Amino acid sequence: MSKHESNAAVEAAYDEHVMSIWKSLDVPVRRAEGCTLEDFDGNEYLDVFSGISVTNVGHGNEAVVDAAKDQLDEFVHGCSYVHPNEPVADLAERIADVTPGDLQKSFFCNSGTEAVEGAIKLARKYTGSKEVIALEMGFHGRTLGSLALTGNKAYKQGMAPTINDVAHTAPPYGYRCPRCDGAQCGPECADELERVIGSHTSGDLAAVVVEPVMGEAGIIVPPEGWLERVREIAHDHGALLILDEVQTGYGRTGELFATEHFDVEPDILTQAKGIANGLPLGAFTASAEIADAFESGDHLSTFGGNPVACAAALATIDELEDGVVDHAREQGAWLADELAALEEDFDVVGQTRGLGLMWGVELVEPGTTGPQNVAPKPDAELASAVSDYLREESQVVMGVGGYYKNVMRFQPPLTISRDQLATAVDELRAALETVA
Ligand code: PMP
Repeated sequence: MSKHESNAAVEAAYDEHVMSIWKSLDVPVRRAEGCTLEDFDGNEYLDVFSGISVTNVGHGNEAVVDAAKDQLDEFVHGCSYVHPNEPVADLAERIADVTPGDLQKSFFCNSGTEAVEGAIKLARKYTGSKEVIALEMGFHGRTLGSLALTGNKAYKQGMAPTINDVAHTAPPYGYRCPRCDGAQCGPECADELERVIGSHTSGDLAAVVVEPVMGEAGIIVPPEGWLERVREIAHDHGALLILDEVQTGYGRTGELFATEHFDVEPDILTQAKGIANGLPLGAFTASAEIADAFESGDHLSTFGGNPVACAAALATIDELEDGVVDHAREQGAWLADELAALEEDFDVVGQTRGLGLMWGVELVEPGTTGPQNVAPKPDAELASAVSDYLREESQVVMGVGGYYKNVMRFQPPLTISRDQLATAVDELRAALETVA
């Protein structure tokens, strides 16, 4: 029995002993199942954010829990880089199977940020080059290496210096694209990368790192041909393309990996979040040729590839392939139309965009001019009020984020039912009607 028997008790303990709490979504959780969170006071919430897009096959998924429990009974830890074990071997083989192209070998770590940092090290070792380019507004993590790639001052204030030799290029943000002045971005907007290489690097380029759909930036989906062009430019300069699928991987976009929506195979693919449905695990995967640039002992993580997390990941992939990804695709198609209707009905809804069950609703001040003179001003205050309303009045936990903090984020467990999804949309409507 927990000694914290109420929300107030657990919140007080947090205030006293836990660092750096994110206050804007503070629903204490005592237990969770499917798409439902229960707090310490017995209230239930519909979760359409999945613990920042993690519990893709549902909270407490029985197959995943059983797989983890079975492995707990066998052994918990041996350091997977010192003691080869079956869950790591099986998962590495499975990832080689389910990832696109000739991605063959994986390194396992514990989080997304570690996956990105490891991928950068591998790209440097393989290419013999040093510099890295990422996207403005992109997010790749908060440890100092990944933080350098993260294209948002909000995460960097007070934390500099990060690593050197990182430049940023424009994101494919059609709604506010400075390059195409309000028209929908196309592949030609990726040519900005060529300009950035020319003016912000020495040409010693190891990698270009891109989220195939940008998550923290506010669910930004590139236009057709954009990612292909980025890959072409990266390769022209001898650099690898690292696709950061930490947020988009494992079914989130209605395919197992978002890269399947585009005609682009990455040189290195980073993964985390949904991979083990909530157990801490990250990975980066490359072709044998690239992976073998790491010599024995070049990279290691004591906990990386924890056998319990890997067993959970194998069960997660089984669940995803056993209908969950298909379900996400179907629900996502329905959600797309429902959200498009919000654009029609509310002039504060500037744009809705997404893939699968990864959707953003961008809230704006109608009749104003945005930062690049191409779209109405972002309304972060409204988004925050809508999020509070949803949590407090509707008992719906919906993400709020985006570069301008004005985007409502639908990223529910992929197992969400049509009724639950409809409830979330109805409640968002009610919130907009009341708060806007
Ligand atoms: N890359 C992407 C695309 C992400 O969305 C995130 C987390 N939001 C990360 C990396 C960092 O992952 P983690 O928090 O597990 O370090």
